[in-house]
Amino acid sequence: MGPRGISSALSCVFVITGPSGVGKGTLIRALRQRVPELELSVSATTRRPRPGETQGVDYHFLSENEFDRHVAAGEFVEWAEYSGRRYGTLRTELEDRVKAGRPVVLEIEVQGARQVRSTVPDAVQVFIAPPSPETLRLRLVARGTDSPDDVERRLAVARAELAAQGEFPHVVVNDRLEDAVDELEKIVRAGLGQPLPSTP
Ligand code: ADP
Ligand code: 5GP
Repeated sequence: MGPRGISSALSCVFVITGPSGVGKGTLIRALRQRVPELELSVSATTRRPRPGETQGVDYHFLSENEFDRHVAAGEFVEWAEYSGRRYGTLRTELEDRVKAGRPVVLEIEVQGARQVRSTVPDAVQVFIAPPSPETLRLRLVARGTDSPDDVERRLAVARAELAAQGEFPHVVVNDRLEDAVDELEKIVRAGLGQPLPSTP
């Protein structure tokens, strides 16, 4: 771990990564209903808010200059450029929680997940994979939040991201949502040292 790393020995940091449209956000919402103590790290980004997204809740929406300032001040645990925009995890999202032993989940793309391997070496990293590459296009189009050009850019990045899944200790295929949430919950409870709640 480098001098600016964060040791998560007192708690658990969970990294959920995988291509756009695979269902990371959906899975994390469902997971947090089952494991309510899991807190979400709110990322910073230079992309514009989508309709319905709220400043400070979905993202810290920043100008290019504001993002630059956080980079220069070394305030990111990781950051990456994705589809022409920058995204990053601010130290302030992790430090207090980790010190207090509160578990936190990061939803980030693959380049960021790679950086977290060195900055937060104890983090539990999970790659979410689609049942087939074609599923991503169907889900992105069905989500309806990205322009056709942006969908194509995201699918182009997804090819490289899918090729990286072998780097991750846990791979969860998001085919049937409930099955994927079950699998994710098992990984997270194991990380937290908790038994699974018994099913009725
Ligand atoms: P990501 O956060 O990885 O970009 P989202 O969570 O936004 O992906 O999911 C992309 C779209 O796919 C959404 O419209 C979501 O409702 C849908 N989706 C997620 N998981 C499944 C699934 N298991 N089966 C079918 N559709 C899904
Ligand atoms: P979106 O524009 O769909 O919200 O996010 C685009 C991609 O950026 C997704 O793969 C998402 O997981 C990723 N992302 C969101 N926040 C961060 C972050 O803080 N760091 C990194 N590296 N990627 C992020």
